[in-house]
Amino acid sequence: MSTLLDQLTSCVSPERLRDLTLELVRIPSPTGDSVDVTAFYTETVRGLGLPVEMLTDYPESPSTIARWENTPDGPTITLDGHVDTIHADHVPPYVEGERIYGRGAGDMKSGIAAMIEATRVLIENDVRLRGNLILATHSLHEAPVGHMEGLKALIARGDVFVDAAIVAECGFDTLPIRGKGQCLFEIEITREGEVLHENVARPRGVSNPLEQAARLAHRMLQRHEELSVHADPLIGPETYFLGQIHGGDFYNRVPTRAFMNGTYRYLPDKDWPDVYREVDAQIAAIDWPADITVTRKLFGNGLGYQVSPEAGIVQALRNAYHTIVGRELPLEGNLSVSDVNVIAREAGIPVVAHGTGSTTSHADLEWVDLPNIVRTTKVFIATILNYLGVEEGS
Ligand SMILES: [Zn+2]
Repeated sequence: MSTLLDQLTSCVSPERLRDLTLELVRIPSPTGDSVDVTAFYTETVRGLGLPVEMLTDYPESPSTIARWENTPDGPTITLDGHVDTIHADHVPPYVEGERIYGRGAGDMKSGIAAMIEATRVLIENDVRLRGNLILATHSLHEAPVGHMEGLKALIARGDVFVDAAIVAECGFDTLPIRGKGQCLFEIEITREGEVLHENVARPRGVSNPLEQAARLAHRMLQRHEELSVHADPLIGPETYFLGQIHGGDFYNRVPTRAFMNGTYRYLPDKDWPDVYREVDAQIAAIDWPADITVTRKLFGNGLGYQVSPEAGIVQALRNAYHTIVGRELPLEGNLSVSDVNVIAREAGIPVVAHGTGSTTSHADLEWVDLPNIVRTTKVFIATILNYLGVEEGS
């Protein structure tokens, strides 16, 4: 196995990875507009000899499934990635030394390039896996335009995420096995009537929505403190965070509306009804005046998740990382929601994230270092060999 692995990793081409990443980055794909980049990706994967199925449930944001079936009744590993980027201006893509700059370079077109290159190396070396490889891509990942619809539709098919998955994004030097869920809340506090002078409103008992928003904000911060005593060893306690509070337009005018939003991040034991109950309980804890109406919207990007450290894919990846990098891959927790949350909870399979380690996702200037893409590609190859096994004589 180790000779085979040496042979395969020596075939990983930094030039190809650089060019592929750059070509993917050169095709803009802000969320909701990923037809062109998907066409390029599809053509590249078909060039490896794999059939690619294109799903157009969301016509401007197609998903793809490429299957390499070696042993139909063997296990399957799914490599997953999103091809959309956030909507944010960026200077045109360029390369400087070993660094590739461009929107999507880190998040996560270099991860897509690593998925393709790992597959190319395995196919071109005639490796006969004792199982199957699926490459899955989708879009509608980046909020607020996307709500993971592409991924959720792939999961709902039931034949894409079947045994184990690797999401080719995020860091590479730690392995998250437990992650918090996230609920984005938006709360609108309104009253009937006109904007009034404070000295007219108060004597008449007219409520100030902004002051009522402050009461709810205070309640949520109190709840944050209450929750802080129960900390999970990997991901800490559940939290409330306030992102925006708006209301009013003048120092002594009583407005008719206030708005607040923020997040409630919670532990993996929660399901959606628990999440709704928790946030609603904070709203219900306020003794709202009769002239105030409160409406809330809750958006879930993903429930919390937990993957067993004993899961085959976790062990395959950790062993692969050790072989390629020469260090242990420590287990950790993840505070942010990613595709991993959705796959773990909705497909119900063990899933790991292993990316190219860009620290500039969503930054004004986004970049990724080529040696990290090369290393991650090698780790993918070793993980696939570890997890699926190889026929004798490969
Ligand atoms: Zn991403």
